[in-house]
Amino acid sequence: MVNKKFDAIVVGAGISGILSTLALAREGKTVLVIEKNSVLGGNCRTYEIEGYQVDTGPHAITDLINGPLKKLINDYFRVVPRFFPIGSYYVRDNGKLQEFPLTLLQLAKFDILPKKERLIMSSAMIDAVANFSLNRELLDKSIYEFMKKYKPSSQTWKLINTVSYFLSGKSMKETPTWRILGGSGYVDENSSHKKNQLKSLIKFKKNNYSSHGYPLGGIQSITDCALNSIPKNSTIFKLNEKVVKIITEKNITKGVQTDKNIYNSDIVIYSGFMTNLPNLIDNLSKVYTCELEKLKQTKSLTIWFGLKKKLLELSYIGSEIYFNTETPYWAIPVSNLDSHLAPKNKQLVGFSTIIENEKSEEKINNFKKTIFTAIPNLFENIDFEHVQITVPEKAAVTTGVKFPSPRSTIKNLYLVGTDTDMRSMGITRASHSVIEALKFMREDNILD
Ligand SMILES: Cc1cc2nc3c(=O)[nH]c(=O)nc-3n(C[C@H](O)[C@H](O)[C@H](O)COP(=O)(O)OP(=O)(O)OC[C@H]3O[C@@H](n4cnc5c(N)ncnc54)[C@H](O)[C@@H]3O)c2cc1C
Repeated sequence: MVNKKFDAIVVGAGISGILSTLALAREGKTVLVIEKNSVLGGNCRTYEIEGYQVDTGPHAITDLINGPLKKLINDYFRVVPRFFPIGSYYVRDNGKLQEFPLTLLQLAKFDILPKKERLIMSSAMIDAVANFSLNRELLDKSIYEFMKKYKPSSQTWKLINTVSYFLSGKSMKETPTWRILGGSGYVDENSSHKKNQLKSLIKFKKNNYSSHGYPLGGIQSITDCALNSIPKNSTIFKLNEKVVKIITEKNITKGVQTDKNIYNSDIVIYSGFMTNLPNLIDNLSKVYTCELEKLKQTKSLTIWFGLKKKLLELSYIGSEIYFNTETPYWAIPVSNLDSHLAPKNKQLVGFSTIIENEKSEEKINNFKKTIFTAIPNLFENIDFEHVQITVPEKAAVTTGVKFPSPRSTIKNLYLVGTDTDMRSMGITRASHSVIEALKFMREDNILD
């Protein structure tokens, strides 16, 4: 099969490339997958260090009940990952944990913020939801612009800023207001239709994260289940091979050139950075190139701590944010969800923050100081530590920036990954992009 012409070539074997490969193969296509690294999975992997199973960053998978990953699992997976409910999202302050306020009642009780600030936040929440279907332009503005008129205290700004970084990868000055509403479950990012407003209003009373989950065995299990569902003899994977050109002729896809070979195919699915696309294609239009260059990325720093024993401070099911600091974090004690991720009687917890332009050594030290201030008991119980610096999503959702469509400007070149669909986050966003690309392939008569 190596020398034959494949029905499709998939560039990149992260979760979006693997899900695309699975769908195409299950639709009867032969597929060549080319991955520049020596492993499959990209940012959706779990690996072992000193007996701990460490994910590529702390993960909570959103929208699992009726969302895009569930649809792909239903349509194409033969081996299905098992998800645990993610539990609650907590806020840590002065050694105590409180649930992140999602309803008006929870907000009223959220005494980490003074009463006046809680009233401000309630009014802002109602105002934003009311405007979702009436004045969408207002919600395209940043959450900072939206909240300015309420004059929140510096502590409230810090909370808003932390949530912005968590949901979009960027600060409150760059995060659109609709992203905060979508990420907190208040609106359906797919629609601004009025009938959804009633659903949003109900959320003021009853709102939770019941559709969020974490996969048994770590996030690798999503990648492994997808890989194990690919029909035999349909697909070839080439590792350690980098695509350096997508070959086109008269604006029609013809194949790819790698650092080792040339492969022909009439269909290419590209899942690398969209900002890199102009370097891979000759004569891409200037307007399209300019659009792609506007995409912004975020780097994140994760520290995994293996702990000699299970700490009382980290005994909950869920994850936590710590915001009243210059180095806010999001953390998840994953071994509480799946005890096999840590050796017996030990605990594994991942802490993640955003890095701007600081030197990483300095940032790592400051980050550790923050973590040890938040949970003092952690320091003397460290069994091992592991640092990761990663790009969680290939583009951050920022004000005024549009992502490219999964149908590119070149015939039969499709784009997937977390910089081709603005909805949700991470693996869910990657899944949305794959479903969109498949839809376009059906419209273009590539798939039945
Ligand atoms: C710290 C952190 C926390 C996260 N938290 C969450 C979370 O809570 N929930 C969630 O859903 N997601 C989360 N994510 C994000 C999620 O893991 C990623 O968004 C997702 O895995 C990205 O998948 P992808 O296929 O789009 O991209 P990638 O994983 O980046 O895959 C792209 C692949 O293409 C390959 N490639 C690129 N260019 C070429 C080329 N020219 N030739 C050959 N190969 C190429 C790359 O090597 C890579 O393997 C988190 C990620 C991190 C790092």
